Amino acid sequence: MSKSRTSETVKVVVRCRPMNEKEKAANFRRVVSVDVKLGQVVVRNPRGATQELPKVFTFDSVYDWDSKQLELYDESFRPLVDSVLMGFNGTIFAYGQTGTGKTYTMEGVRNDPEKQGVIPNSFEHIFTHISRSQNQQYLVRASYLEIYQEEIRDLLFKDQSRRLELKERPDTGVYVKDLSSFVTKSVTEIEHVMSVGNQNRSVGATNMNEHSSRSHAIFVITVECSELGPDGQNHIRVGKLNLVDLAGSERQSKTGAQGERLKEATKINLSLSALGNVISALVDGRSAHVPYRDSKLTRLLQDSLGGNARTVMVANIGPASYNVEETLTTLRYSNRAK
Ligand code: ADP
Ligand code: MG
Repeated sequence: MSKSRTSETVKVVVRCRPMNEKEKAANFRRVVSVDVKLGQVVVRNPRGATQELPKVFTFDSVYDWDSKQLELYDESFRPLVDSVLMGFNGTIFAYGQTGTGKTYTMEGVRNDPEKQGVIPNSFEHIFTHISRSQNQQYLVRASYLEIYQEEIRDLLFKDQSRRLELKERPDTGVYVKDLSSFVTKSVTEIEHVMSVGNQNRSVGATNMNEHSSRSHAIFVITVECSELGPDGQNHIRVGKLNLVDLAGSERQSKTGAQGERLKEATKINLSLSALGNVISALVDGRSAHVPYRDSKLTRLLQDSLGGNARTVMVANIGPASYNVEETLTTLRYSNRAK
């Protein structure tokens, strides 16, 4: 159903979560409507002022509160993961205000097959593909890292106080020096790697919700495939899949942040706007300069954004009236990114 309004390389989709119990109890109005067929999101003025027309945004695909995890996977993510299995790089981002469903989209609900998100679905996809392949040998490796305050932490390393550096080599490009990676041979093994990383992520965070809303988490799966070619030689292709749960996009100034918090907020806003600039330069296609160097996030993902790589950004929004400003900000950001 995807109408491919943008290039094959970058897709932006929007997902609106359901009203939660609190919002229902407080009788908040729903100001977002979603037209799945037209790929449109409409935001009405919550105050009901007649002067201001509803705002309409069009995307590659849009998903409403009834959307199913597997539906998103099959339509919007599976083709990207297929291309990783073919040896290309790909990146999936979840963007949006805290509480709108980024982690739900990326990870979903544990041990509930219907509610598991992109990351577990991609694990199953990759290992099913491998189990059915006949003439190829595969090697799957996983890494997990976090960017917090423009510092990189290896979520799979025992010492969580260690910070990693970005390096660049003429042959391999940008890489994270000393980042751990684990060879995984099954869904169970790669799930284990993810849960170890998640546990490490919460260590040292006094409030996990707060911490995760201020840092970017990046789960990286590298798929190496070797195949005997007709020339009798072994051919190796390597594809990399980056699964990114971004920091919350909410405007921190509103929360009256000061000192450390304000510094933190400034860095988040910087890296999210750097990401927006990179994606819009890629979509535009005419800009000779793609500003990868403006943040750790975009530098780190440089070889997986643009070129032959595919990107899908999921912009998550909430439906209720009190979020309307943040919702509009997210839609504008995403609209610019496509
Ligand atoms: P974020 O990571 O953006 O801060 P979460 O993914 O933690 O947001 O979502 C906030 C809450 O809303 C969670 O309780 C989550 O289970 C619920 N939620 C989010 N999106 C959906 C959805 N599409 N369907 C059902 N529940 C959702
Ligand atoms: Mg989250």
